[in-house]
Amino acid sequence: MDRKKVGIIGFGRTGEALFSFLLDDPGFSDIIIFDDKKIDQARLPSGYINMGVELLSGEKGIEKLSRSDLVIFSPGVNGREERFLPLRESGVKIISEIEFASSLIDSKIIAVTGTNGKSTTVSLIHHILNRSGIDSHLTGNIGVPLISEVGKIGSDSIIVLEVSSFQLEEIEDFKPEITMILNVTPDHLDRYSSLSEYREAKLNILKNLSDDDPVILNYDDAFLREKFYGKDRNNFRAIWFSVEESFFEEGGWLTGNKAILKVNGKEQELLLEGNPLIGSHNLENIIASFLAVSLAGLPVKDLTESLKSFAGLPHRMEVCGEKEGVRFINDSKATNIDATLKSITGIEDDIALILGGKDKGGDFSVLKEHLNKKIKKIILIGEAAATIAAGINSEKTFFTRANTLDEALRKGYEVMAGSRGTVLLAPGCASFDMFRNYEERGDVFKKDVKKFIDEG
Ligand code: ADP
Repeated sequence: MDRKKVGIIGFGRTGEALFSFLLDDPGFSDIIIFDDKKIDQARLPSGYINMGVELLSGEKGIEKLSRSDLVIFSPGVNGREERFLPLRESGVKIISEIEFASSLIDSKIIAVTGTNGKSTTVSLIHHILNRSGIDSHLTGNIGVPLISEVGKIGSDSIIVLEVSSFQLEEIEDFKPEITMILNVTPDHLDRYSSLSEYREAKLNILKNLSDDDPVILNYDDAFLREKFYGKDRNNFRAIWFSVEESFFEEGGWLTGNKAILKVNGKEQELLLEGNPLIGSHNLENIIASFLAVSLAGLPVKDLTESLKSFAGLPHRMEVCGEKEGVRFINDSKATNIDATLKSITGIEDDIALILGGKDKGGDFSVLKEHLNKKIKKIILIGEAAATIAAGINSEKTFFTRANTLDEALRKGYEVMAGSRGTVLLAPGCASFDMFRNYEERGDVFKKDVKKFIDEG
């Protein structure tokens, strides 16, 4: 058999899952693992060198990769960095993990991308499918690499795939049965050289679709609406959604407490009673999820009950305590400004906002219009504190600094005490300056809130 040499770039969770898959695949002889960080030997099988596995990094590593048959990028590695240029120019086949894994899968894929709301939406879709007895697999950017699902999937299974822009950078034939783009707002401007480059990466998800393939799109997102609404030259079947009353040819919208779904020529309505999710951005996620499962053939009548029993995800608008009428909300997953804005608009009370962390190059001035209206104070944390204050460019009295989340929430409480407001952690930044990830940031916040409340 013609055995191939394959390179894996990045040895994080995805790289490791790729590695275990390739190790068992007789089609591949040599595996090169390329990573800048020193790889812990405990993550590799003993005697790996004799198995044809090589660990490389740096320029020499790239040179070797150029001579392999296939290179697979992990989403965490930026393939646009200059150092990978020789690799691209070498003509070696370069793909992303979802391209590789999806080529080995026959089941239906519902792929969800967008700047914000992906994890909430895929989790809700997965929950609804599971409740209906469908063998649903929740995978992708949500934390389970698609490649680790290969072999576990039956012909009736449905893959619910969360896709990031990074994963879409190197696709060739990837083609979901149902596609969704929730929104495209500025993010990751530390990795992309411009907003249009980031948008292009996201829209890559449409690359292989044809006229009948459904794409669920957000009418309330200005970029998506202007680019695709009413356009003849779309290479797909557009299914629109909005949280405002609308009348799409095909799609879904809200009117009062009801959702209207119009799919495959049938218009149906359902009540949104008992919705456990806070904020109008979550209404977007709900209506989009309902459209996806309807397109997958599920009956509309069960959806209200499914929504009621959806627990939501931690670190997304998670109410984590109350003291003397002041609520504490953990939205640590708000790692960009649009997510922070949605959190603010989703809350009716006055807010003391904990903002900051590691800057991703966003424009914080959009928060200015909420100052002294809903936002009574901004408590700045982390590396980006000064950049944010300069970006918002408002009176100093609106800002205060805190060195820890504990200090921040106490300062927030002082501002809100007596007014029954909310202390909101929606940092609008990445967490890596102070924490391992947004989960750790949210967990620390929740622990500190609990301690503060228990003090009485
Ligand atoms: P993602 O997986 O795309 O990061 P999440 O569901 O984890 O999305 O939510 C990330 C952040 O974005 C949270 O702060 C959440 O409150 C906010 N958010 C969720 N849905 C939306 C949406 N449809 N539009 C804007 N922001 C949203």
